[in-house]
Amino acid sequence: MRIGVDIGGSKIEAAALDDDGSIRVRRRIATPTSDYSALIEAVKALVAGVTAEIGRSPSIGVAMPGALSPATGLVKNANSTCLNGRPFDRDLAAALGQPLRFANDANCFALSEATDGAAAGARTVFGVILGTGVGGGIVVDGKLLTGPNAIAGEWGHSPVPWPQDDERPGPRCYCGKHGCIESFLSGPAFARDHQLATGAIADPAAIAAAALAGNRAAHESFERYVDRLARGLATVINLLDPDVIVLGGGLGQIGALYEAVPRRWGAYVFSDAVATRLVPPRWGDSSGVRGAAWLWPESPAP
Ligand SMILES: [Zn+2]
Repeated sequence: MRIGVDIGGSKIEAAALDDDGSIRVRRRIATPTSDYSALIEAVKALVAGVTAEIGRSPSIGVAMPGALSPATGLVKNANSTCLNGRPFDRDLAAALGQPLRFANDANCFALSEATDGAAAGARTVFGVILGTGVGGGIVVDGKLLTGPNAIAGEWGHSPVPWPQDDERPGPRCYCGKHGCIESFLSGPAFARDHQLATGAIADPAAIAAAALAGNRAAHESFERYVDRLARGLATVINLLDPDVIVLGGGLGQIGALYEAVPRRWGAYVFSDAVATRLVPPRWGDSSGVRGAAWLWPESPAP
């Protein structure tokens, strides 16, 4: 058995997974957003509840926003900002009294889908989060790729490739640059692009549904989004050549993307044919706790 903990912006979830991946116990609480020590105490109490219910203390993995900087040992890039600048791994391990493993939430999504999800059995997997932000994680032969900067798979803050004239310099991004993939492909960016073109306010799922229903303006917005996503993923395919790309986050639930994007990415990928599969996720909202639990792939405690 393994425990996975998912630290989200609004909720913290902990789950105990059996060795076959079925969830035995699952608990969630609201995230204490502003107070670091309250957050540590909340995770401690949550995990204590799960271990009491399963009657043992197995390995624990943690999905967290942002990353632990190899340069400083402190959290960087977290949207739960009370974590930034803190030695969260050491503080939480001390509070729980056992060694822990940590990974970025996009990496946990990729690991979850590669281990026993939509990309199970694939050799190289790129897991994409398309939500309020755009992230990604890479799994090769069942193992997360991390890297010396702890940013492997973070494609969201590279520019949209093959930009058209009206995409330059592109929207300003919170990272300080213009035209980032995230500033075109996040959910809010899709809605903003549609609003700028049509004046209408709609969320990405509604835009996609209207496009499928034959609304011309929505169709044009959807096709712009699809082409940008195809271009962004084409550079990932050129660099990594993954067997499978899984789309997570809110926009990963838009079924029309899974046909529309591969129809377009062939024009950009440097290959005569594209064998990479684009697939919807199996585990959805559970990918955080599941991927965190799988951070301990080795034989678990009995
Ligand atoms: Zn950016």
